[in-house]
This record gives sequence, C-alpha cells and structure tokens, in this order.
Amino acid sequence: MNILVVEDEKNLADAIVEILNSNGYNAEATYDGTSGLEKAQSDAYDAIVLDVMLPGMDGREIVHELRRAGKSTPILMLTALSSTKDKVDALDAGADDYMTKPFESDELLARLRALTRRKGEVVIDEVKFEDITLDLTTHDLSCKDRKVHLSGKEFEVMNMLMTSNTRVVSKQDLLTKVWGADADASENSVEAYISFLRKKLQHVNSKVQITTLRMLGYRLEYFEN
Ligand code: CA
Repeated sequence: MNILVVEDEKNLADAIVEILNSNGYNAEATYDGTSGLEKAQSDAYDAIVLDVMLPGMDGREIVHELRRAGKSTPILMLTALSSTKDKVDALDAGADDYMTKPFESDELLARLRALTRRKGEVVIDEVKFEDITLDLTTHDLSCKDRKVHLSGKEFEVMNMLMTSNTRVVSKQDLLTKVWGADADASENSVEAYISFLRKKLQHVNSKVQITTLRMLGYRLEYFEN
C-alpha cells in the first residue's frame, strides 16, 4: 500500500516514512505543499499523511484542491495545534481524519488502518501468477486442486517472484529483502531455496517454472503444454 507523507519538518517526515515502511507500507515523503499536491494528484497513493502548515501550499488548500478535482484518496491531516477550530477546518476541507502532533507511532498506524479500511479497500490475501496462487495468510502454494505449504523463506522468495510477475529478480535483491541482516546467508542460500521452490512447483503440477538468467537472476515463466 503506497502512502504519501507531506511534511516540511524533514526529521518528522522521514521518521513517519520509516515507521510506515517497517510496518509493511510503501511510503515516501515530500517536504513542501506544491510538490505534495503534484504527487497527490498522481493517483499513485492509497492514503496521504498531510501536514497543515507547509511552505508553498497549505495542507487545507491541498485537500480542497484534491477534493475539488474529484480525488477521494483518504487523507490523514497532521495538526500542530489541538484547537477544535484546527480540527474542524481540516475535516471541513475534506480530510478524513486528523491527528495532533506529537503522536505515538501506534496511533498513526491505527488511524491509517482505519482510513484505508473505510475506503472499502479489499485486503489482498493472495497473489496469482498464471496457474498458481500463493495464499498470503496460510503460505500455501496451489495450482488447480493441488496444494503445498511453503516454509517462511520459501514463501518470501516466491512472493517476491510472483509480485514481480515476469520481471527478473536479482539474487542480491532476494538476499537483501528475504534474508536481510542475516550475515550467514549467501547467494548459495538463494540457490537452495530456488531449487526447493522448483520441486514444489513440480509437485503441484504447475506449468510455471523459475528460469535462471545467468548473471541477472530469476524470473517466472509459464510454459503452456
Ligand atoms: Ca509544518
């Protein structure tokens, strides 16, 4: 889920981005009102965290502009003051919710969850690629009526490959994203897991294969017949 953070206090903006990114969101910050509005209009975001007092363009004006243009992206306003007038102004302008600074990260996360739920967004609980489906809750990989359970790392590797569709995923990318700070992991670990996954794809009788592209990495390919 993509979140845009518009906040001119750079430290705060970056801290919010970090909190969101470490909680499964894909957040990015912009530090002034003008570029905030520009980005917000792009439709690339599922929600916007928006400060009121901004250089370039005021947060309330941004909400107003977006709503006037028919954009319904959920907006969480950040207000420095806890005066009732500030909150009323934020909501009147078309924001969905407001939060007074300073705030706890738990509150930010809870409010964002509520906002994105309110939008009626369906929680994605599976990823599909050609004839295979990966259940994000149970970690089962299935193809038609056959199913196999994936271990933690197998699941993460498969999830990355499937969400990349037919794009190439490099070994280094897999290593960083799946193994992270695990110093013992190496490219051999990636190769081992790729081979486990190949066996599991065969096990469920899928026509999807993990192709190795020398020096580049891996990608999924569908072989009809
Ligand atoms: Ca500000």
